[in-house]
Amino acid sequence: MKTFTCKEIMNGEGGCDEAFEAETAMDIAKQSATHFMNSTDEAHKPMREMMASSPSEEEQKKWWDWFNSEWDKKEEV
Ligand SMILES: [Zn+2]
Repeated sequence: MKTFTCKEIMNGEGGCDEAFEAETAMDIAKQSATHFMNSTDEAHKPMREMMASSPSEEEQKKWWDWFNSEWDKKEEV
């Protein structure tokens, strides 16, 4: 199990202190996607807009590669 905060998932570019816990990087991505899409404030705007703009496969892959490297660096809790 690993824990990521909303801020970490946004790479420090906004977000909040809400934490997500999961066994896989994909599960964190799913939980946080719901969180971002349900947000309405400025702090989450960059991520919300990125998701709402239907990013290309290349953009998604770029984010996914970045997030997976963050996931690998994270200690198990
Ligand atoms: Zn948040």
